[in-house]
Amino acid sequence: MHRIFLALFLLATLALVPTLAQAPTVPVVRAQGDQTQAIGTADGDAQDDFESSLRLVVTGSPLLPGAPDPIRATVTLPAPAELRLRVVDFDGDTVAELYRGHRRAGELQRAWDGVTTAGRTVPPGPYRVVATTTVDGALERADTWVTMADRAVYPQAPASIIVAVDPGHGGDYDGAMAPDGTREADINLDIGLRLARMLEGAGVNVVLTRDADRNVNEPPQDRTGDRLIDGDDELAARPDAANEARADLFISIHNNTAASPRVGGPSTLYFDERPFAARNARLARIVQEEMVAGLAEAGEDGWQPHDHGALIYPYYVLRGFDPPRLRRPTQMPGVLSEGLFLSNPQELALLQQPAVRGAMAAAYYGAVSRYLARRGPHLGYALVDGPAEAVDPGRPLTLGIEVRNQGSEAVRDWRLTGELERARPRYLGRVGRGTRLADARVPRLAPGESALVELAFPLLQRPATGSCW
Ligand SMILES: [Zn+2]
Repeated sequence: MHRIFLALFLLATLALVPTLAQAPTVPVVRAQGDQTQAIGTADGDAQDDFESSLRLVVTGSPLLPGAPDPIRATVTLPAPAELRLRVVDFDGDTVAELYRGHRRAGELQRAWDGVTTAGRTVPPGPYRVVATTTVDGALERADTWVTMADRAVYPQAPASIIVAVDPGHGGDYDGAMAPDGTREADINLDIGLRLARMLEGAGVNVVLTRDADRNVNEPPQDRTGDRLIDGDDELAARPDAANEARADLFISIHNNTAASPRVGGPSTLYFDERPFAARNARLARIVQEEMVAGLAEAGEDGWQPHDHGALIYPYYVLRGFDPPRLRRPTQMPGVLSEGLFLSNPQELALLQQPAVRGAMAAAYYGAVSRYLARRGPHLGYALVDGPAEAVDPGRPLTLGIEVRNQGSEAVRDWRLTGELERARPRYLGRVGRGTRLADARVPRLAPGESALVELAFPLLQRPATGSCW
């Protein structure tokens, strides 16, 4: 059977590399991000009766060291109530009491500067502002995640960023297992959730491949098309989730194991045979640097993690088009990071400390921030109109593609091209080797603007030999 694989990519006719190499035109990095949290009550009926509910609006996250504006929480009470307003950490422990007592109806504003009630500055991480009220014995609660961090993430437009966070294993898949029964899957999930909440608190969109101890391929689907539902489908579900969300980055969180209990230290894996290999290598290097630095600071005095560096490895979630096992590779730079070894007693003890897992999440966050700091012009694209099924050779094809300027600068003189690529036993990831069949102009777009571009392919010819994917 002949099938057609269309590789779409964006081509800047302006010299893209010099633009990216310039220092980013970041005005001033300051805490920003407005979040309005949906209202919730203990019995969950507040959405139906918005007027009578407690409201909580939080601004000023992420909170950066030395930022002039702290995190501000505004509570609106519809009626007098017993109010408690506090900040809790990821593990649910209260770090700061902002208000506790009887309060009249109306608005109350309180600021939090990242310092605990005991006067200690909290470490980077996700925190939650929680408001609870009791009116006539009925409990209401509203909360929102905020972030304490050394850096913002793409402060020009954090909401334009989508990060896929993939906690490795889970459900039927334990991953590495420590002698004491600690599962890698659980450690990975904890770090992944901390990272996700930290990014969300900074105004960034996150897609988590799993947010609980479960399989990702749920409900079970045959994603690889081999009529079996097995471990390959579980792996395929992860790039699928990232691609469906059109994520900018893919971060797969793992921890390691070895036969010798003496082996230890983090490594960051990526694959170099991808269209975005150069950017991907940079991402891997940054993740590894942040992880080594974060662990050195979080570990015991004098302990230095062994730095294995950024390594090239064709893990399933990292490599390119490789049918039949892998038909839909990730469309964005990604890493698979192996934090510490569960088989090393000292490193296992570190992984069991919430503060160390928090430092690892903060390291990923810092890496995402550093990697995106150089992002200038950037177009995101989504296929909004196309054929419902594979197109046979000999038929015309028009694709409607919505392009959106997700960068910090205006986009002008960009073109969208469509190419037909020949199937190869091994996808080498180089773009520009296919036959260019369609070409369309992208209109000038200011940051945040989008436009629909039609890409019309002429009659597709049946190839002389071989098949197309
Ligand atoms: Zn693993």
